Amino acid sequence: MPRTSRSLCDRDAIFSEVRAVYQELEQRPVERDCLRRTECCQFKLTGKTPYLTAGEALYAADALRAQGKTRLEEKADGSCPLLDARTGRCQIYESRPFSCRTHFCAAAGGPYSRKEVIDLIRRLEDVDHAMGGPGAQTLPVAIKEALAGSAVSGRPGVLSKPMPRDRGRR
Ligand code: SF4
Repeated sequence: MPRTSRSLCDRDAIFSEVRAVYQELEQRPVERDCLRRTECCQFKLTGKTPYLTAGEALYAADALRAQGKTRLEEKADGSCPLLDARTGRCQIYESRPFSCRTHFCAAAGGPYSRKEVIDLIRRLEDVDHAMGGPGAQTLPVAIKEALAGSAVSGRPGVLSKPMPRDRGRR
């Protein structure tokens, strides 16, 4: 996303940048292979919950809405609310958040070290900042707010501030 002011509804710019970050991660020369075992989706069992920035949450919520879903499932077993109880699969796998692509799954090759992806994390934080987001929140909270339309100053898809500092990436 160009580091220029985008003052009005710019959902496309938000999604474009989030998508670009995910695509760049895929191209990193770090061997990782998600086998879709969904072990890392069992938050209660692992004791770990992914954190999402506002742009990621909006992107994930949009993928859910595209399936006609506007609410998160309550999960008594403490698993991710986006894990389909019927199929055992992630409901938004292609749009899954950054943490789901990088965190602690040993079967996928273990977590990325922070230095391997810090530039991408900062880009997601930049989007969050430009949206007036609250910073990274746990997945259930972030997506619930995005679905409710409260993730970005009550106006999903709005950049409430100019895009922040140029980090010299382009
Ligand atoms: S969003 Fe998908 S991949 Fe991430 S924890 Fe939830 S079910 Fe698993």
